[in-house]
Amino acid sequence: MSGEGNYINIKYSNDCLKLINDTFQKFLIVDSINYQVELKKALEKIGVFFDLDRSYIYYFSNDPTLMQIECQWNKKDIRPKRETQEEEVVYALPWLIREIKNNDFVVINNMNEFPSEAVFEAEVFLKEGIMSSLIVPLKSENMLIGFVGYESLSKPITWEEDQIKILKDVSKAFSHARARIAKKEEYESIINGQAILLNNSKSQIWALSNVTSYATVNEAHAKFFGKKKSELEYQDLYDVFDIDTANKLSANNWELFRKNEPAEKELEIKNCKGENRLLNIKSKPQRDETGNIKYLICTAEDITEQRLAERELYKAKEQAEAANIAKSQFLANMSHEIRTPMNGIFGFLELLQSTNLSLEQKEFIREAKSASEVLLHIINDILDFSKIEARKLTMEKIGFNLRNTIDDAISLLAPKAAEKGLEIYTMIKAGVPEDVIGDPSRLRQILNNLISNAVKFTERGEISVIVDCLEEENEIAVLSFEVKDTGIGICKEHINTIFQYFSQADASTTRKYGGTGLGLAISNELVKMMGGEINVESILGEGSTFKFDVRLKIAKGPLKQKFAFEKLQGVNILIVNDNENNRKSVSSYLQGTGLKVFEAKDAASAITTILSNANTKNKISVAIIDYQMQDMSGYELATTLKTIPLAKEIKLILLASLTQKGDAKVAKEYGFSSYLGKPVRRDDLLGCIAILLGLKKEEEKEQQLITKHIVKEVKKALKPRILLVEDNEMNRKIVIGMLKSHDMTCDVAMNGREALNAVSEKDYDVVFMDCQMPVMDGYECTNKIRLFEGDKKHTTIIAMTANAMEGDYEKCIEAGMDDYISKPINFDTMFNMIEANIKEKELVTEYNNIIENNIDYFVQTTGLKRDDAKEILEEYIKYLPNLLEDIYDAIDNYDFNKLARITHELKGSSGNFRIISIYELAIKLEEAALKQEKDECSRLFVKIKDLLH
Ligand code: ADP
Repeated sequence: MSGEGNYINIKYSNDCLKLINDTFQKFLIVDSINYQVELKKALEKIGVFFDLDRSYIYYFSNDPTLMQIECQWNKKDIRPKRETQEEEVVYALPWLIREIKNNDFVVINNMNEFPSEAVFEAEVFLKEGIMSSLIVPLKSENMLIGFVGYESLSKPITWEEDQIKILKDVSKAFSHARARIAKKEEYESIINGQAILLNNSKSQIWALSNVTSYATVNEAHAKFFGKKKSELEYQDLYDVFDIDTANKLSANNWELFRKNEPAEKELEIKNCKGENRLLNIKSKPQRDETGNIKYLICTAEDITEQRLAERELYKAKEQAEAANIAKSQFLANMSHEIRTPMNGIFGFLELLQSTNLSLEQKEFIREAKSASEVLLHIINDILDFSKIEARKLTMEKIGFNLRNTIDDAISLLAPKAAEKGLEIYTMIKAGVPEDVIGDPSRLRQILNNLISNAVKFTERGEISVIVDCLEEENEIAVLSFEVKDTGIGICKEHINTIFQYFSQADASTTRKYGGTGLGLAISNELVKMMGGEINVESILGEGSTFKFDVRLKIAKGPLKQKFAFEKLQGVNILIVNDNENNRKSVSSYLQGTGLKVFEAKDAASAITTILSNANTKNKISVAIIDYQMQDMSGYELATTLKTIPLAKEIKLILLASLTQKGDAKVAKEYGFSSYLGKPVRRDDLLGCIAILLGLKKEEEKEQQLITKHIVKEVKKALKPRILLVEDNEMNRKIVIGMLKSHDMTCDVAMNGREALNAVSEKDYDVVFMDCQMPVMDGYECTNKIRLFEGDKKHTTIIAMTANAMEGDYEKCIEAGMDDYISKPINFDTMFNMIEANIKEKELVTEYNNIIENNIDYFVQTTGLKRDDAKEILEEYIKYLPNLLEDIYDAIDNYDFNKLARITHELKGSSGNFRIISIYELAIKLEEAALKQEKDECSRLFVKIKDLLH
């Protein structure tokens, strides 16, 4: 056998080389269209060259158990390998397939060479009359994908090595060409697919090669401008568009290129129909290897309609907002309108009550007042609702005592609960902070709402209010509140809706229980504004538990410790009550005080506890006894204890609810030292214990009360100077009437202008100023007063208005007013304001002499401590200048009646305060006034005045 090079050179010479070269060349570049033709030609050329009868190529199908002839050639007069090209089963030739899988080729020189296992193959050869065959496997990535067969039918061939090598190489060229074509086809199909996508996309897509030149565009982009793709591709903008469009596009492109990163922009541009369209363009630079922008790929959506729709929506939203503002303005006005007559109703009822009435008439007034209160409550709810709707509700941030606020809310509803025979008890756990910062009135409002619902929807049983501090972090306390009742409960279907506006668990309850369905919805909002949540658990027929939590800032600074708790250390106290919740409630108030608390569930166990502890360190000092218990009444227990030597020293406190006919006097007779009403307030309870233990003097408290009362009376006698500025006649009548009932008078102005005149002529302690008035409103009037006063003077001006909407208070303060009282007027507040504003005409220090000269006698005769006595005298003396001014006016005007009246007051008060020097002169002055001796009056007046300087 000769070598490869030799063989070619010797045996096949140039023809052979040409054949090989031609085949390789062809099959390197053959495309899919010519592939079959060229393949057939090549098979023929090879067959002819090597004097073969047949050649063919099989490829396996996608299903690898099947194969099919792809191309075949046969010599003239020789039957083709297959008549039709159809799929055949691969394993019809199992031995052959195995062999070509594992070898580079398979050679059959003649039939005798078949091994015994090649039964099927031998049979095929026999059947087809094949004498010799060379079979070359076709592989791709080491996988058998088909094979090429070369056959001789007319004569046996001994396949030579060189011949085999050439046929192997040529076969490889065939399979390479096929793989290349397949890949290209696949690529083209992808490209075509993408082109289809790009050109069918509704979005416009284009690529720019620079600011003014397109690279390529899709159909949508071309269509937008009414052009063909080819009219834009690789063109300069200025060559294809009018100057305006080209300018706009290039300016836009310039910005996008300049950004040098993905960008988004809106551009309004004319389309082919001359319509202005708004395009939202997104661009992304595609860079070359050096990082320079090669293309800027842009996509665009036409957002003209979308933007129009948005504008419409925006307009609608603005209109809705305007309507909302109008609505809340309307509500504000309505609230003003409603409050004004309400003010009339309240005021006149109050005045009417102070006249001489029959019992029946008094009852009618009571009913009318209670109906008005309900009405006012509903109006306030609706107002709150409108504030929430208009997002105008704000929270105050003021320091307040948490326990007092909770106790206040409960006390307000305690009489109602007692009327229905319901026990109401509170448990404020020990960790609950004393002083916090927040909005006490809103917290009270939530509690009021929940507790009043509990009272309303409960016929028998009890109501409990439990307050706990869940956590304290960064000076913020998370407080949980629980209001639990044993009432009618709420069914499952309604439980989720009761926090919605105007929703009531059962429409029929409206008739039975009344209400607006606003309370819980408002509470829900308020709780949210305090950083918490509200929820309810309820079982129909068994009761409901409303829970909410709020976050409140803990007030800094030392806590006001009302009692010296350390003095309670080691004192043993016993709570006797058959209601466990009541016991817990009372005991919760005593936590953290140092008191050691014992509990007894009835009178019998109380006696046992007292006796068994009697001679130990747990000896009971104080017992808090409930009025009514199962085995024995509180009175009976007290009587019993007083007969037992070991128990009779124990201080007893009686706890009775409002309806239980407990009476302090009777209780004392039974041996009780104190009497407290339920629900008890912590301050009262601790105060009471402190007095019983001798830590605080009861008399001292009483004395103080009495003396304070005197001061108050004196203040009242001093007659404040009030200006009422009010255009509404009814409102004027009410205020004047109320002032009169307190023995006060006022000047009246019908509008701002009149008020301005009045203030410029006279010194007022307080001006009550309506805001909305004809001629000149309250704001303008106040402004003018402040201008006119400058920094020389400051008259207290209090707005008295029916506007109760958000911002009203601020508006009044901005106008220069000092405070604000809303209508319907709470007259207690009004009188407190008057009292607080009665002017101190001169500094107290100027009267130090009087105080110094009289204090000893005052202390001596009242038993007061010196400090307290001094404080009281100072308070009194502050109001003397007012009185003296009135005396001076009266003398000046020869008004001896008035003079006698005022001097009588001066005599009374100076007598009360033991200021003898004034007291004696006042007696003389009164006498002179009664005698109408003007000169004597003037002389005495000067003497009194001198005393003060
Ligand atoms: P109102 O009490 O004015 O109707 P609320 O918003 O305070 O409005 O309460 C809504 C409804 O929730 C009530 O009408 C009632 O059906 C139900 N509800 C509230 N509290 C209780 C309660 N403690 N027990 C039973 N039902 C209650």
